[in-house]
Amino acid sequence: MKKGMLCLLCLAFCLCACGRQRGNGKETRELFAMDTYMTLTVYGEGADEALALLAEEITTLERQFSAAREDGEIGSLNRNGTAELSDETLTLLRRCLALERQTGRAFCVGMYPVVCLWGFPTGAYRVPTEAEIQAALAKTDLRALQIEGNRVTLPEGAQLDFGAAAKGYAGQKCAQLLSARGDCAAILSLGGNVQTVGTKSDGSKWQVAVQDPFGEGYAAQLAVEGTKSIVTSGSYQRYFEQDGRRYGHIFDAQTGYPAQSGLASVTVVADDGTLADALSTALFVMGLEKGTAFWRDTGGFEAIFITEDGEVYVTSGLAADVTGCTFAEVAP
Ligand code: AMP
Ligand code: MG
Repeated sequence: MKKGMLCLLCLAFCLCACGRQRGNGKETRELFAMDTYMTLTVYGEGADEALALLAEEITTLERQFSAAREDGEIGSLNRNGTAELSDETLTLLRRCLALERQTGRAFCVGMYPVVCLWGFPTGAYRVPTEAEIQAALAKTDLRALQIEGNRVTLPEGAQLDFGAAAKGYAGQKCAQLLSARGDCAAILSLGGNVQTVGTKSDGSKWQVAVQDPFGEGYAAQLAVEGTKSIVTSGSYQRYFEQDGRRYGHIFDAQTGYPAQSGLASVTVVADDGTLADALSTALFVMGLEKGTAFWRDTGGFEAIFITEDGEVYVTSGLAADVTGCTFAEVAP
């Protein structure tokens, strides 16, 4: 299975890199966290200490936001139906609830019952019955969620999933930690998320590859200036196959089925990592037409849409920065 192959490739890369690399004034560290392989590269003085700080932060956030870990805040909330959350986790929850409203539930932070029903967290994949899907969908409704101070109480059966926003949040928080340390530059790859920080010493732009959703190579190259979050969502990243059909890991809250919007992947570029991550997922659910309409109405981000037919659409703010493919520009 593709995820397995990718893991092996990443593992081979990790072994070659022996965990850390020195040279050219940069330090690189690989780690596995938030269910994905991450490669963190920091340039300049004190890069080693900075990397240790980032790895610790990511590990902390992983525990804090995991839907399943019993020692984490969201895991505990999901298990007990109520929990006292830290200010940070509560702030992210409020942000996710706002993004859920803003995207008309294309981004749905209560999706965990559906995600579990299809077997994604455990790998025990299966296509559920329609009755099971309807029952799980009913549990994604968070309108009765209560927040009193820092205590959050979920509606009966509801469970939260920060999986579509947590890596973007983590990337952004790492960027803030690095910036607070002073003049430094970094490029952090957290699975399908890339966070750039600052400017390289030669002043050139960061080059970020957008993965080909149909193969192992790259579909496009993106030049990025300064501190940005570049987040890609696509069903190619995690899926299972049954009876010749492919079932991806991004779900549509309207149907309870994996989203089938005609898109193979969506990449969102924004200053804000949480926004970029949540919107890459939401736009994937919306599809090209609704997604581009959302971009026109909302603003604050740019996007690259790759359709299942292999066509590439780039919003106008990014058009000058995309190379390596033929694309249609989406006008404002
Ligand atoms: P991403 O890779 O950022 O697109 O996030 C996908 C992950 O978020 C999945 O593996 C699920 O855990 C969860 N998820 C699936 N569908 C949705 C959705 N529509 N809204 C929010 N989270 C979702
Ligand atoms: Mg996402």
